[in-house]
Amino acid sequence: MTAAPSPRTRARRLHHKAAYDRATIDAILDAMPVAHVGYILEGAPVVTPTLQWRTGDRIFWHGSSASRMQKTATGAPVCVTVTLTDAMVLARSGLEHSVNYRSVMVFGTAVEVTGAAAKTAALKAMMDRMFPGRWESLRPMTAQELKATRILSLPLTEASAKIGAGMPTDPPEDLSWPVWAGVLPIRFAMGDPISAPGVDLAVPPHAAAYRFGHPAQ
Ligand SMILES: Cc1cc2nc3c(=O)[nH]c(=O)nc-3n(C[C@H](O)[C@H](O)[C@H](O)COP(=O)(O)OP(=O)(O)OC[C@H]3O[C@@H](n4cnc5c(N)ncnc54)[C@H](O)[C@@H]3O)c2cc1C
Repeated sequence: MTAAPSPRTRARRLHHKAAYDRATIDAILDAMPVAHVGYILEGAPVVTPTLQWRTGDRIFWHGSSASRMQKTATGAPVCVTVTLTDAMVLARSGLEHSVNYRSVMVFGTAVEVTGAAAKTAALKAMMDRMFPGRWESLRPMTAQELKATRILSLPLTEASAKIGAGMPTDPPEDLSWPVWAGVLPIRFAMGDPISAPGVDLAVPPHAAAYRFGHPAQ
């Protein structure tokens, strides 16, 4: 369980914005499914965007068994990041402009989820986290589909959060400078559901209720 930073996760730059407690880390991971997985491919860094989900003390992501990301990251050191942007921060000087954000970095060795039962449970957990109840209504997964899917996971033992919030932090001597300053809040908004061609069914509650990128509390 992450509570104190490791040498690798201890924030040096603006360290007062960092947090290492699981409640803060979990809230960010659960609010934003989009993640970036960083790994080394043929000697050079690659960062691949994908979806992550958390179950208990681990995060998971999946992809084609043939995916270079999935093949390369299996058993390898990775760094997974998750970011929510909450506002653009406009200050009186260019230097003080910033972004209000909530982000997480998780370090570790990616472990492959193996075995049909464990893989199925992980994929169901992914669906349950996004669309509770949908898994049970789907055409069951085939053995070939399961085989073609590689799921990787990372424990949350070495993770950090960093949160930027509030108004611009202009120094006192800049406060009277005659330019507008403040924050431009950023909100993710879901549009109305659009049924696929040929679908004559009501939008299920798990679809209508879906919210992407939860706002900061
Ligand atoms: C949307 C967004 C925009 C940003 N814009 C800028 C920018 O323009 N310029 C800039 O310098 N920085 C920006 N940051 C902050 C940036 O992520 C780094 O925190 C910062 O650059 C310090 O980097 P460093 O390598 O010196 O970190 P260090 O303090 O040396 O990092 C040490 C450890 O602290 C933890 N850590 C550091 N940053 C984060 C983070 N963001 N989230 C979670 N854990 C973290 C990690 O575990 C890391 O290994 C932005 C962040 C976000 C999310």
